[in-house]
Amino acid sequence: MRMSQTLIPTLKEAPSEAEVPSHVFMVRGGYLRKVAAGIYSFLPLGWKVVKKVEKIIREEMDRAGASEVFLPAVIPAELWQESGRWDQYGAQLLRFKDRKGGDFVIGPTHEEVISALVRSDVRSWRQLPLNLYQIQTKFRDELRPRAGLMRGREFIMKDAYSFHVDENDANREYKKMYDTYQRIFTRCGLAFRAVEADTGNIGGSLSHEFQVLTETGEDALVACDACDYAANVEQAVARPPADPQTASEQCQRVPTPGQHTIAEVSSFLGVPQTRLVKTLIYLADGQPVAVLVRGDRAVNEIKLRRALEVTELLLATDAAVREVTGAPVGFAGPVGLKIQVPIYCDLEVQALADFVVGANAPDAHLKGVNVDNDFKPTAFGDYRTAAEGDACARCATGHLHAHRGIEVGQVFFLGTKYSRPMGVTFLDVDGLEKPAQMGCYGIGVTRIVAAAIEQNHDKDGIVWPVPLAPYEVAVLELQQDDDNVIATSKRIYEELSAAGIDVLYDDRDERAGVKFKDADLIGIPFRIAIGRKGVAEGVVELKRRNGTEVRKIRIPEASALVAAEVIAERR
Ligand SMILES: [Zn+2]
Repeated sequence: MRMSQTLIPTLKEAPSEAEVPSHVFMVRGGYLRKVAAGIYSFLPLGWKVVKKVEKIIREEMDRAGASEVFLPAVIPAELWQESGRWDQYGAQLLRFKDRKGGDFVIGPTHEEVISALVRSDVRSWRQLPLNLYQIQTKFRDELRPRAGLMRGREFIMKDAYSFHVDENDANREYKKMYDTYQRIFTRCGLAFRAVEADTGNIGGSLSHEFQVLTETGEDALVACDACDYAANVEQAVARPPADPQTASEQCQRVPTPGQHTIAEVSSFLGVPQTRLVKTLIYLADGQPVAVLVRGDRAVNEIKLRRALEVTELLLATDAAVREVTGAPVGFAGPVGLKIQVPIYCDLEVQALADFVVGANAPDAHLKGVNVDNDFKPTAFGDYRTAAEGDACARCATGHLHAHRGIEVGQVFFLGTKYSRPMGVTFLDVDGLEKPAQMGCYGIGVTRIVAAAIEQNHDKDGIVWPVPLAPYEVAVLELQQDDDNVIATSKRIYEELSAAGIDVLYDDRDERAGVKFKDADLIGIPFRIAIGRKGVAEGVVELKRRNGTEVRKIRIPEASALVAAEVIAERR
């Protein structure tokens, strides 16, 4: 592509609302323009990157045996009422009426549409399994769209839905899609982790997220440094302590005037925070419970709610704490509670001996406290949030480290969550009518573009990996008034194009400095600079966007050499 003939409106400054690098560089590099909050136009460069992502996804989904379809963006409300999500989905669902007053939505996902399709056309076990996917525009009416493509309202997604005769077959497909996703994100040149995830709004019982690791990510995760275990912080499990400590002290009361916080009590008593135990009072479906975790740990309310099998879990108010403990906040403990409530004790506390707790009295703590000797917990469990440095529960040697990530894909095993209410049934080999087992598998196409930039940029602009770069090579014609420079530039552009390389030919009437700056900003992986002095010597200069070395290469060999290097980095 000749740069003079396309639209690449680069800017010196990004709009003030652009905070993350992907947003800044996509606007400055002329990839993207805002139309409304969270709604963007893709310019030629941006659209080329989207198409490259889509091509990789299509190739891998087709190779996995899935079939592409294209479902409508506008969906009648009846389908959503049937699945129950019309009432459940909330304000993110963009609802509207047509001219006849009928209710419609713009699809944020397509479980309902695909279920309606399959139930009318699939009757027999002989037609299963089936995996149907589409690449399409979705809309979610985010309250605060931000960070450009990372959390927009309109976005492009690949969504796939599979249907199976039984759970075993659905699980087989889940694993296949998991592997397919690994291939897709690897081919995109992304550093990512597959993470055990919560099933959230979609429902179902098993789910993994694919997270691109980057400091600007919205999601907090932990990942093992020795095995492939990774999980969202809400879900993550650490290895419980192996050997319980032995009790050697008697429980005794010590004054701690005015010492409320863990840090204060720790330094006042000269006891490390790891030997202090926090007692938190929660209201679990309205009933008070006490939860014990080590002083340096945080209670994980998601795990706790699941363990207690309650729907509502609230930290008790100061007044409720006083009622249960008989003491002001900061002095709660499991020994001698004023009202006997169930005590849930974290596994780390179970293994601890001779620890410090609040005395359920103002300005006092208890030292030398031991489980069983001094109090009897109702249950032991994993109630804390995993932290940096925790031992991995999956392998024997690894430790967990905190990361931030951008979710670019998620796979779900849905079971019969949609097929039952939507009546997606089939006649099994025994002649009985059964609901299909389902899976669904999403990839945020436009979010991959943003995530790739978050992971691959420097202060000057984007540093594309070859598989996603809008162009693989930039040919910079440095002097517009030199016929030899123009002829050589044109020759290399044409030779590379003929070799099937994606080339951006900067033939604009601009200064050399502008062309170098724009090439860095746009982030093309290979840059060939063609200048008067070099051409006179029979050479051009080759530089990688991700390196500093400038190589002089002879003009007759230039195209073949660069083409070979580009092709070696395609995936
Ligand atoms: Zn591990």
